[in-house]
Amino acid sequence: MEVIIKETYEEMSKLAAEMIAEQVNNKPDSVLGFATGSTPVGTYRELIRLNKEGKVDFSEVKTFNLDEYIGLDPEHDQSYHYFMKENLFAHINIKPENWYVPPGKADDFTKACKEYEQMIADSGGLDIQLLGIGGNGHIAFNEPVSSLGSRTRVKTLTKDTIEDNARFFENIEDVPRFAVTMGIGTIMEARKVILLANKANKSDAIAATIEGPITAMVPATVVQLHRDAIIIVEKEAASKLKGEYPSEPAVLKL
Ligand code: PGA
Repeated sequence: MEVIIKETYEEMSKLAAEMIAEQVNNKPDSVLGFATGSTPVGTYRELIRLNKEGKVDFSEVKTFNLDEYIGLDPEHDQSYHYFMKENLFAHINIKPENWYVPPGKADDFTKACKEYEQMIADSGGLDIQLLGIGGNGHIAFNEPVSSLGSRTRVKTLTKDTIEDNARFFENIEDVPRFAVTMGIGTIMEARKVILLANKANKSDAIAATIEGPITAMVPATVVQLHRDAIIIVEKEAASKLKGEYPSEPAVLKL
């Protein structure tokens, strides 16, 4: 794992966006895995800027999002479909048929989850998966004790997650109780993983993820097993780390 500590949220976001843009510039038909939440918003803002400046072209890119609340229509303003459109896809030159979010409504979720996995596989697999982290160490909606080999499926949200996400809804009762989420096994098959964290409320989860033992109690710890994982942490989220980490990725300058 490569661990990078940045002074600010903006610097963290800029580095993540540069890595994604570099991937797309090297492979214009890249398959990207995207995340929702407050954490990646700055990264998306930066990708929009790079796209508008002509520094990255998304016309051949395909994307797959990590998760979606069960019960919300794509048009619902708290659905992750809506979030992605508002925060990224409406502002870049991606083709509307090339971005996918798991379905929040389905007659048969088992079938829908299998189809989602199949679509990722048929696209050639994820080149990069962008991840946030929950205060409880979840990645996507893989809550503590999720199987580290899990595939896309329905999960029940924990009380912590419902409370964390209540800030986006009028009442806590409006937060969906279930979600469809890519599994940890699905995420681990991405060829590269970029995990971002900012703010002090992530500091325990980040310390456990980087310096703790691998455990399903903190699902993000599984990235220790990934062969190409980079964790970019803003300094408040990094405040409980014991080790010293660089502020720039290791690049070979020829
Ligand atoms: P946040 O959520 O980016 O809104 O903090 C991250 C997560 O729960 O995975």
